[in-house]
Amino acid sequence: MSDPVLPQRARVVVVGGGVIGCSVAYHLAHMGWKDVVLLERAQLTSGTTWHAAGLIVTFGSTSETSTEMRKYTRDLYARLEAETGMSTGFKPVGFIEVACEKDRLEEYRRVSAFNRYCGVDVHEISPNEVRDLFPLAKTDDILAGFYVKEDGRANPVDLTMALAKGARQKGATIVENCPVTDFTTKNGAVSGVVTPFGTIECEYVVNCAGMWARQLGAKVGVTIPLQPAEHYYLITEKIDGMVPSLPVLEDPGSYGYFREEVGGLMVGLFEPVCAPWKIEGVPEDFTFGELNPDWDRMGQYVEKAMRRVPVSVETGIRKFFCGPESFTPDLAPIVGEAPELKNFFVAAGMNSIGILTGGGMGRMLAHWIVNGRPDADITGINIDRLHKYQSNPEYRKTRTVESLGMVYQCHYPTRSMMTARDAKRSAVHDKLAARGAYFRDVSGWEGADWYAEPGTTPDPGPLSWGRQSWFPRWKAEHDATREGVILMDMSFMAKFSVQGRDAGRLLNTLSGNQVDGAPGTITYTQWLNEDGKLEADLTVTKLDDERYWVVASDTAHRHVETRMRRHFGDAHAFVTDVTGGYAQLNVQGPRSRELMQSLTTADLSNEAFPFRTAREIDIGFARALCVRITYLGELGYELYVPTEQAAHVYDRIVTAGEKVGLRHAGLKALASLRMEKGYRDYGHDIDNTDSVLEAGLGFALDLKKPGGFIGKEAVVAKKAEGPLKRRLLQVQLRDPEPMMFHAELVKRDGKTVGYVRAASYGFTLGGAVGLAMIEAGQPIDPAYIENGTWEVEIANKNHPALASMKPLYDPTNAKIKA
Ligand SMILES: Cc1cc2nc3c(=O)[nH]c(=O)nc-3n(C[C@H](O)[C@H](O)[C@H](O)COP(=O)(O)OP(=O)(O)OC[C@H]3O[C@@H](n4cnc5c(N)ncnc54)[C@H](O)[C@@H]3O)c2cc1C
Repeated sequence: MSDPVLPQRARVVVVGGGVIGCSVAYHLAHMGWKDVVLLERAQLTSGTTWHAAGLIVTFGSTSETSTEMRKYTRDLYARLEAETGMSTGFKPVGFIEVACEKDRLEEYRRVSAFNRYCGVDVHEISPNEVRDLFPLAKTDDILAGFYVKEDGRANPVDLTMALAKGARQKGATIVENCPVTDFTTKNGAVSGVVTPFGTIECEYVVNCAGMWARQLGAKVGVTIPLQPAEHYYLITEKIDGMVPSLPVLEDPGSYGYFREEVGGLMVGLFEPVCAPWKIEGVPEDFTFGELNPDWDRMGQYVEKAMRRVPVSVETGIRKFFCGPESFTPDLAPIVGEAPELKNFFVAAGMNSIGILTGGGMGRMLAHWIVNGRPDADITGINIDRLHKYQSNPEYRKTRTVESLGMVYQCHYPTRSMMTARDAKRSAVHDKLAARGAYFRDVSGWEGADWYAEPGTTPDPGPLSWGRQSWFPRWKAEHDATREGVILMDMSFMAKFSVQGRDAGRLLNTLSGNQVDGAPGTITYTQWLNEDGKLEADLTVTKLDDERYWVVASDTAHRHVETRMRRHFGDAHAFVTDVTGGYAQLNVQGPRSRELMQSLTTADLSNEAFPFRTAREIDIGFARALCVRITYLGELGYELYVPTEQAAHVYDRIVTAGEKVGLRHAGLKALASLRMEKGYRDYGHDIDNTDSVLEAGLGFALDLKKPGGFIGKEAVVAKKAEGPLKRRLLQVQLRDPEPMMFHAELVKRDGKTVGYVRAASYGFTLGGAVGLAMIEAGQPIDPAYIENGTWEVEIANKNHPALASMKPLYDPTNAKIKA
């Protein structure tokens, strides 16, 4: 075989010729970029793609981004043959997901309503209808099925080849047998790819190297913490009466999915406890590879799955297939521009749905590269949500077992990841544990979620869609914040010290609000992109003319840091990540001033220390940055304490707190308190697809400040368009009983106008409360809100609700300024 001939230069080099790489190349070429080169180590599809089962399913996600990708992908595979002349093997044979347990039924009812809103034509069907559609299935224990007639299956190799042909037809170059061995960089950006056959200079690289992506990224310091694991299906001998038009059946409770395969049955498996493969690294020469199936481990799952389709138990097995697939720490893909290296994009870690999301993934990434930003909510999949320690071998080995296992579990809204825990502990962790804290995973930190009765061990009890055992404990913490005083450890918040002569000016250009005013002031602000859409939601505290304190939520840690570093460039402004160097202890509630004043000689009176003040104060033998601000909607203080003094300050607060009835409060209380006040949480209820005005955050903009800010022109233009037709509203259920979590549909006068992005329980308001993005198609003004009858649909039932633009709790901010 002769050596491949490579161009010297390309605008973008895509690494990897699986479904994802070919889709990225296809979409870049279709967006008009001619200078696209795809390099494949061996042959197209030779990694994971060749052996995928090819399920094409649009049902099942409560992420709008994922659902849109699935819909787009299905449509693309259906039309690709007309464009390329190559069949994708797409057969819309239909898809049925069955629920055999009460909680799963609840989950699928919630999901199906949301999916219908997103344009997926899913119907709940009876067990008899499941049997009519899939006569081989045992249906006596099925509660219901969820059926999408238009879904089905495709041939992964054929559809990848069709994408590759479509890319070539539009001018892309695809080179096989050409491994990328390294990259070149210049000024913090990627500048080329290195291969045994020469180097290609380029502006952009897209790492679509599947399970090799982590190793490849590591060559240039890019963190891609994915891990391959064994993944299985078996194919039976021929079964009498089997027809290719049989729908795909999925039964997560039995660990299996089922479809026709050359006259027999394919039984695919997602076992609850999986086996990661090659922790040390994937061999470079693993091509069209298979793994030896582990019958001993898998036998019990195979048996359970096969019982769903009894004829399969009596039929011989033709092939028990095991191949590796990449899984990620949170079961979401790893997508976007690497924070470590500009113009180095990644699309990997597909968690077993790379085929059914592949088309949409390629489309989104191409838009991101060509337009400079994505056109979908990427907060949950952005590569910058992940941290370097997650690439550690032990972390990957431990967490992957849970990730794959989660696929077929009931997805309870309050479930926390349980493996690879204790990676990050705050300085007062053990003290909180002694107080009965129940911890959950907060971006790797142990976050106190709620506190058990003193002297008892926290026991969360079974997960559910209703109220869990700790509901009364949560309420007590919530009420204590509204009526007395609480202590909350939020040391997991991302904290940055930003210093330098240019720091204030540059932070002000990033910020929609004025953050460079008087020293000793904290300012709540958003960072926008040129479209006036949200990139971050955070606080900036000006300590003095050359020192600033930037605090963002844990999930935005690297996004915020990267945005600052890229914006500052060579200017005299320097970012130091001080997250681990400072604990954040929050003292909040109407009696917080009384408590704090008993601890310090600083004057904390409203006159001397008003709302939005920041000052270093003494507490015992310690110094702390004390900021009068709240995320809970009460009078309160946030204390930033050097880690080595955190235990001391904590002890002082707790001892003094005895006199005023101080209670510890956890993150469940944080969620319910902030939600009553309508405070936003980036990545949960607001994201990069929302304009700052639609998010209801126009009040935090300073349109008159000298020098303006990034995104100002777009904001001004949007304002000029007149009243908004899309806006975030607070919604509260009138019935105190039902719970809301996420993705519940919001209706006005019987018509669905949006969905709940995030929700909690409003103990003070007296019912579930959430933030919902409303797409009204008409101006959203007070009349629109007052003249409508509002309802929220939860698991097939409509519940009366009220909607509001203003915070339902303390709309005049009287409490926080008291
Ligand atoms: C048993 C099984 C069943 C599955 N069933 C389904 C299903 O029904 N539906 C679904 O949606 N998904 C399914 N999946 C998952 C799906 O197969 C994957 O998500 C998808 O194929 C991943 O595609 P990819 O392009 O990211 O990776 P890959 O297909 O692995 O492509 C990566 C490519 O990069 C190349 N490469 C690596 N390193 C280099 C380098 N240095 N230089 C150049 N090239 C390089 C590799 O050779 C490879 O071709 C299944 C997976 C398994 C294992």
